[in-house]
Amino acid sequence: MTSTLDLTAGPSFDGASSRRLLAHLRDIMAGSGSGQERLDKIVTLIAAEMRADVCSCYVMRAGEVLELFATEGLNKTAVHNTRLRVGEGIVGYIAGHARPLALDNAPSHPSFAYRPETGEDPFLSMAGVPVLRGGKVRGVLVIQHKDRRPYVEEEVESLQTIAMVVAELVAQSELVGASEVSTSGDPVLLPARLSGVAMSPGLAMGLAVIHRPQLTIRQLVAEDAEAELERFNAALVTMHSAIDDLLEAATLAGLGEPRDILETYRMFAEDRGWLSRIREAIRAGLTAEAAVQQVQNDTRARMSHLTDPYIRERLQDFEDLTNRLLQHLAGKTSSADGATQPDDMILVARSMGPAELLDYDRSRLRGLLLEEGTPSSHVCIVARALNIPVVQAADALNRIEALDQLIVDGDHGQVFIRPAEDIQMAFADSVALQHRKEQMYAEIRNLPSVTRDGVPISIQLNCGLLIDLPHLQASGAEGIGLYRTEIPFMVRASYPDVKAQTELYSRIMDEAGEKPIVFRTLDVGGDKMLPYMTGGEEENPALGWRAVRIGLDHPSLLRQQLRALLQAAAGRPLSVMFPMIAEVAELDAARRLLDLELKRQAGQGVEPPSRLRVGTMIEVPSLLWQLPALLPRVDFLSVGSNDLMQYLYAADRGNPRTSTRYDALSPGMLCVMRRLVDECAKNKVPLSLCGEMAGRPLDAMALIGAGFRTLSMAPPSVGPVKTMLRSLDVAALRQYMSGLYLGADHSLRDKLKTFARDHGVLI
Ligand code: PEP
Ligand code: MG
Repeated sequence: MTSTLDLTAGPSFDGASSRRLLAHLRDIMAGSGSGQERLDKIVTLIAAEMRADVCSCYVMRAGEVLELFATEGLNKTAVHNTRLRVGEGIVGYIAGHARPLALDNAPSHPSFAYRPETGEDPFLSMAGVPVLRGGKVRGVLVIQHKDRRPYVEEEVESLQTIAMVVAELVAQSELVGASEVSTSGDPVLLPARLSGVAMSPGLAMGLAVIHRPQLTIRQLVAEDAEAELERFNAALVTMHSAIDDLLEAATLAGLGEPRDILETYRMFAEDRGWLSRIREAIRAGLTAEAAVQQVQNDTRARMSHLTDPYIRERLQDFEDLTNRLLQHLAGKTSSADGATQPDDMILVARSMGPAELLDYDRSRLRGLLLEEGTPSSHVCIVARALNIPVVQAADALNRIEALDQLIVDGDHGQVFIRPAEDIQMAFADSVALQHRKEQMYAEIRNLPSVTRDGVPISIQLNCGLLIDLPHLQASGAEGIGLYRTEIPFMVRASYPDVKAQTELYSRIMDEAGEKPIVFRTLDVGGDKMLPYMTGGEEENPALGWRAVRIGLDHPSLLRQQLRALLQAAAGRPLSVMFPMIAEVAELDAARRLLDLELKRQAGQGVEPPSRLRVGTMIEVPSLLWQLPALLPRVDFLSVGSNDLMQYLYAADRGNPRTSTRYDALSPGMLCVMRRLVDECAKNKVPLSLCGEMAGRPLDAMALIGAGFRTLSMAPPSVGPVKTMLRSLDVAALRQYMSGLYLGADHSLRDKLKTFARDHGVLI
């Protein structure tokens, strides 16, 4: 192969030429004319400034075809006639590899494809760069020379910079019709399908909104390079100190080895190569934002074809740093921008916390697509409560652009990107089917929740927002088995005072009417961070300072919440449940705070609750070994199977590699469940389960088989679970399961499915 980039030779093009070219480019972009006219001017300008015999721009059209859109030096009649597929010719090669290529003898390159209509036979040397936007190839920009000559790095870099401007033209739909660049900005309009994991049921159609989108860079070319460098340096200092703060908080919190993820991140933030490439791009005339973006485009193009997971993670680090740096340059903090949210939006994110989800306008949010996350992560729990279908699919962000049309199928874990008409029609059919099912669930709503052999099962709801409450009446559930009080805390900008909390709890009780509610005290920490709470970064947040641990370390916080609950309940029944209790002593300490508040309330003459019930969640396995001490102290228990699974199996519930590794329907977990049922029955302590498994019909069936009679679940699960249990013969299941508990199976799921099929259980 002939020479590629020559880093030393370089007669004609230097920093001054580059700056001059950028200044002209700015004038063209600011001037009048259509997209095509501007592109024509751009290729003429480049040919003149770079003293090239040819400058051409190819734009990607639907079907992965690169069309010659503008040229200076080739036959003008070839414009809009010459087309190359991705991979075809040198232009197609550049598009296919998404990286620059400079050749001093292009015809000898194996990919060279001669197109007679262009009249390009006399040109020997050729340098081309991909036109990239959002990591995707939108076109190719090339220069050609008659003579054999090596290209210098500055020339290729200048072409890359100009390619960013061309990318803007394409994205603004000024070159190809809006239908082709589409709302997606993606010229390759072929429909695509992503297979992923179903995390919250339902179907949704809408337009993609990228969570933490790259900020739009309004100005590419700078007036004053020195001023830009200063802006960049200042943003870098603030970014470094923000990362330092994170590091310091982690160290102060005693998070062990300093060589943790933040250290690595900090190291990348100081990467000399990265920073000097950005500074060079600024010196060449770009704004700080455009320089940061250009270097990222280039890094992504160079690294994206690598499959080594370590390198891909590093790429992700640089993506994060780029976003952070752009945020610092823009002085922005929040990623949810109301103005850019369409009416039907499908949120696409790498990962997300529940508070971030709630940043978005609920009335427009239709679905959620996550690259990382698991069904029991809190963002999914919140999404399920809001009836938002969720799918987890790797690579979503690489395949989807803002405002792409999407269908999220949360029942089958599928996502359709830019769906064709037949898919859209099938989708409409599925929605109709979903409505029919909902009708069926509505029909059984008022029928008794009792198994085929007459065992009553209490179905309760998991709630966390006022908007959940109408479901209580609509679903026919008997009460609220878990009210996650932290969710209202997460959507506020500051900690709600006692008055605000009292009002909220009182409204919840009013809306629930006669139906009982179990209020769980604040369960924050882990993945449920409050925007205004600074606990410092933790190495293992799930094992960290969370839930009742925070309440016991800051008794005033917990007391305020208990005070508000007692005030709201005055004269009405109240059930309080403490989360993450790991030992009986913690329950005693929490109970003492409750007693103090009761006494305080009595001193003020406020009416006490008509009936006060106190319970704990069973989430930490250590508590299972204190049942004799625990059971006499509580009025009820509720199994938090999401956390119990994670602690029982030492498997992070938020990490897809571990969260599905062990099954809640394993003999181990079901043995724990059966023992709890037996111990609670002996002590006459009511027991329920409020983790996600309660809402999955097959899992709920197994729980009923193990002896559970109260299950608490997200509202959309009530219909499917009730349908299941009304078709279930518990005695037969109990008998069947009795032989399975002590087996060596990894999971009993298949066996239980077979039972359901053979016994006509509707799962
Ligand atoms: C659980 O852990 O199962 C539970 C219900 O609590 P959360 O999901 O809110 O942690
Ligand atoms: Mg929990």
